[in-house]
Amino acid sequence: MIKYNPPEDGEPIRVENGVWRTPSKPIVLFIDGDGIGPEITRAAMSVMDKAVEVAYKSSRQIKWLEAYVGEKAEKMAGNRFPQESIDLIQKYRVVLKGPLETPIGGGFRSLNVTIRLILDAYANIRPVKYMKGLESPLRNPEKVDLIIVRENTDDLYRGIEWRWDSPEAVKLRDFLRRELKVEIEDDAGIGIKPISKYKTQRVARMAIRYALQNKRRSVTIMHKGNIMKYTEGAFREWAYEVALKEFRDQVVTEDEVSKGAPQAGKLLINDRIADNMFQQIITRTESYDVILAPNLDGDYISDAAGALIGNIGVLGGANVGDTGGMFEAVHGTAPKYAGKNVANPTGIIRGGELMLRFMGWTEAADLIDKAINEAVNQKKVTQDLARFMNVTPLGTKEFAKALTEIMETL
Ligand code: NAP
Repeated sequence: MIKYNPPEDGEPIRVENGVWRTPSKPIVLFIDGDGIGPEITRAAMSVMDKAVEVAYKSSRQIKWLEAYVGEKAEKMAGNRFPQESIDLIQKYRVVLKGPLETPIGGGFRSLNVTIRLILDAYANIRPVKYMKGLESPLRNPEKVDLIIVRENTDDLYRGIEWRWDSPEAVKLRDFLRRELKVEIEDDAGIGIKPISKYKTQRVARMAIRYALQNKRRSVTIMHKGNIMKYTEGAFREWAYEVALKEFRDQVVTEDEVSKGAPQAGKLLINDRIADNMFQQIITRTESYDVILAPNLDGDYISDAAGALIGNIGVLGGANVGDTGGMFEAVHGTAPKYAGKNVANPTGIIRGGELMLRFMGWTEAADLIDKAINEAVNQKKVTQDLARFMNVTPLGTKEFAKALTEIMETL
């Protein structure tokens, strides 16, 4: 049995209908994670604390509360996800999370997926921004500054599919043949691709709201609607509908601009067909900013965008819903580096930066962004980057300390 003692001088963050209300001393949960998790998570917390201190002096402070999940919980309570930890996440709803191990092909259910379900985190958000010093395959990688917002709960990922020779597939083929006059080969497996208006519109709303709050230039709706008209085509249509019905005064569409509407100060909404989107982020990177995508397209484009900066190890991300979110690094537990003070904490620090943006603590988030760029500029990096830059690497703790020192000079 785990007993939690929330800090008495802190208050929970309240997130209602996607609107975050952050008190001056918010209680934020952290999960150490497995492998390199504890080292990088603690490093990120120290950097976030420093950013808040520099930005707001003593008027704001994060009150951290550890939630036990993963190996640590197993050691303490004999269970990787004890009920007390589930209850705690359900209550406080904002989590900084170190990577958690997931066994391949069996074992326990993914703890990451479980947390996502508890929070109903329907949007996966991944900022991808180039940092000097990374080995990018692009000629002008400094133009890469994208935010991928991927729908997380709909589409082919619902897992509604049947093997070609299953009784369900036979039944379904028969039904399609008889009732709808659709011919499907007898040796074809069948998958169903549901894309709903409700799920499309809530993620579109989040992407547009995030873009407006963070003063981004545009939101591009990615889709393959020319082929999949009633799923991805509908995704496009329903996303435009949200933009024009709910944000009319703050947005302008590409179509309206082409007909002479002024764009000044407004968020541009446009759309691109998925295959074109892939080549556009490589050839005309600077023309894109926030990309809103259905689940499958979003999965592909997230990693492709990550590859543009040469190293997905430095990326952070978030899984966010209307009532909270979980913020993390994109990479995993890198077990071979565990306990050696060599792992790069940048990914989870970026996750923390994103958390601060959702909390509305933009000044602190901006400080973190500047400090990371400045550290790389000064060639203060961990071994994963030092080996390409021919410099002596800093340890995980020393890198975090360098960031906090840089912040004092900004
Ligand atoms: P991984 O942990 O991301 O590690 C793969 C390689 O990436 C490492 O060997 C290392 O490369 C490099 N790397 C990753 N993070 C690094 C860091 N912070 N600093 C320096 N180098 C880093 O991927 P994996 O080995 O496939 O997965 C291990 C476990 O993590 C699995 O149990 C998986 O399920 C879990 N996982 C969890 C999450 C999550 O919690 N969200 C996400 C992904 C994976 P070099 O060997 O080249 O130095």
